[in-house]
Parts: sequence; structure tokens; C-alpha cells
Amino acid sequence: MAEKLGPVSRERLEKNLEAVRAEIAAAATKSGRDADAVRLIAVTKYVGAEEVAQLLELGVKDIGENRIQEAETKKAVLEKHAGVFHLIGHLQTNKADKAAKLFDCIHSIDSDRVAVAINKEAQKGGRAALPCLLEVNVAGEANKYGLAPDETTLCKMVEFMGTLSSLRVTGLMAMAPFAENPEPTSRPVFKRLRELRDAVARSTGVALPELSMGMTQDYAIAIEEGATMVRVGSALFA
Ligand SMILES: *Cc1c(COP(=O)(O)O)cnc(C)c1O
Repeated sequence: MAEKLGPVSRERLEKNLEAVRAEIAAAATKSGRDADAVRLIAVTKYVGAEEVAQLLELGVKDIGENRIQEAETKKAVLEKHAGVFHLIGHLQTNKADKAAKLFDCIHSIDSDRVAVAINKEAQKGGRAALPCLLEVNVAGEANKYGLAPDETTLCKMVEFMGTLSSLRVTGLMAMAPFAENPEPTSRPVFKRLRELRDAVARSTGVALPELSMGMTQDYAIAIEEGATMVRVGSALFA
């Protein structure tokens, strides 16, 4: 899946991290937002536990992984540095038990079934309700997961999540199509996700503060459109 890179030096990580933080700050300023309102989720699927440790030491708080197995190899590092672990990739119901144990936030809830499975496992853990986001396939891409981008579907799902006592739905997540020049393709996706969030929050009365959108190709655009979490991988390891 994610192609692995060789070891990345601490110097390079530090330099790249600084550049990403500067771009986050610039995009926030440009759109009249507070840079503190945007959480950088460092996506570490390309690298090993050593780079994860270094990022956490450099002050990154949030780490994202898209596969359970990969997350298992890094969990000890997260715990040691009190990092917040985000599942950003597709979740299969048969991996719900592991996901509930490994992660602090799940960005990829895309069906009743998976929500029920993860709720059941989260209940066993006996901890505070697990924050979850609903993944929305805004661009309707056949190769992407996610709920349909319509208000009725999302309202129903938010209401259903309200019946699951060990989960707490906090917002929406989306990915824009891959593009060399993302401006014309990503911006409408992010804008649509924000509009859907606003509409669903209004209709259901459930506060949905989080918008997880934007990756290396388009995180500045996402911030301009209201992202509260950007999931950045490649830019940190270039
Ligand atoms: C890999 C991945 C990212 C990060 O992608 P980059 O282009 O490397 O920044 C973000 N979100 C998801 C869901 C991913 O799988």
C-alpha cells in the first residue's frame, strides 16, 4: 500500500516539519483563521517507529496511520510519548477490536456495521467515548470509501451514532482526488464537506466541530476551506 521510504534523518524531519507548520500558519492567516485551530496529523505510513518517535520529540502531538498492522508496530512509541493516534484508513469490521485498542480517534467510519463493531469493542475497554469522524466520498470516486455526500444519509448516520454510547461523532472526513494541480479539484470537495457539516449539524443539533481534510497536495487549500485537522505525510519525509 504505502511505499516505504528509507530512514529519514532528524534534521530533515525538523526542516520539513518547520516548512509544513509555516505553510499551515500562512494558510490560516490568509483565511483569517487561528493556526492553533488546525491540528497537524503526521501520517507515518511511509516510515518506521524511529521517525514516529522523532516527530513526537519534535513536538508533533498527533500521528495518523491507515493500517492496523502498521499501527501495532508503532503503538509502544505513541504510548511512550503520549501521542494521539488517529486511524485514517478504511476499517474492516473484523479489525474493530484492534482498532478500538490502538487508536484515540477514528476518521473512517463509513457504515452502520463498522460503527456497531467499533462501539462494541470500545465498550469493553471501558474508557471515555471514542471520538469518530464520518468519512464522506464527496467526489463519488469508485475507488474510495465513504458515505454518500448527501445530507439525509449523513444526518441518519449522525443520529445512529448517537445511539452508540461508546462512540462520539465529532465531525467529517474526506479526501480529494489525486491531482497534479489540486486547486480546481480539491477546493470544491473541501467546500462541499464544510457545507455538509454545517447542514448536518444544524439539522441534527449535534455539534460537529472537526473537518479532517487536506493532505500533502492540498492541505493549504483545505485550511482555507475550514479544515481543523490536516493529514500530512509525504511533505514531512521529502
Ligand atoms: C496517506 C494518507 C494521507 C497522507 O498523504 P500524503 O499525500 O502523503 O500527505 C492522508 N490521508 C489518508 C487517508 C492517507 O491514506
